[in-house]
Amino acid sequence: MGPDTRPEAFTWAAYRELLRTAASAGYRLVDFGTLDAGEGGASEPALAIRHDVDYVPHWAARMAALEQSEGARSTYCLQPDSLYYSLDAPDVQEAVGEILRSGHWLGLHLDATGIPVDDRVVEAVVTEADSLAVRFDAPVRVVSFHMPGRRSVGQIELPDGLVNTYSPRFFDQIGYLSDSNMNWRGEDPSAVLSSRRHRRLQLLIHPFWWREESASMLEKLEELAADLSLDPSELISPEQREILD
Ligand SMILES: [Zn+2]
Repeated sequence: MGPDTRPEAFTWAAYRELLRTAASAGYRLVDFGTLDAGEGGASEPALAIRHDVDYVPHWAARMAALEQSEGARSTYCLQPDSLYYSLDAPDVQEAVGEILRSGHWLGLHLDATGIPVDDRVVEAVVTEADSLAVRFDAPVRVVSFHMPGRRSVGQIELPDGLVNTYSPRFFDQIGYLSDSNMNWRGEDPSAVLSSRRHRRLQLLIHPFWWREESASMLEKLEELAADLSLDPSELISPEQREILD
């Protein structure tokens, strides 16, 4: 296990510290439209935080409350085609309601790995974004794709009003930090923020990995599998399996 996968780095206390580091470094927390448009000469660096909600939104609601207590706003991308939660479930709707009442923005997380034709992906995005917006009575502008390593999504052009967070400019022109599978890919997020290396920066967070108490990736996945009445082998992705082995 490398230094960037230390379980203690994924506690709510550690996340609060990251938000404070960003604030001390002068980062202004912005939505993706503002981040995308550039700063037009503004003096402060800009940070947009995106949460991809892959598993039960309960953990996301906790992060949303923490962010609100720090005066932070971010975008929560919900997955209507998730295998692990349903937007129809009352507890899920309650969690999403809490996130929105905490002042955050709503985004779409979509699994396009089973849709080979890009035009069909665009249609699915438009349909699902509309339906998510109607369901929660909140605008949906931000789109993130689930498992982007399995199907190329950067070339997908979305209609005006929708932002594909995997467009090349979000990597070429804007800094990118991700906690995917409790691994910062060799970066120290605190150092990246405090150095102000990026005038525009996107931080991708998966709320499921962040907890009050530190725990390993396997512990969290086993607990979730038990909650969902699944065998861990049905839940753990090949990418996760590679890290765990
Ligand atoms: Zn995902």
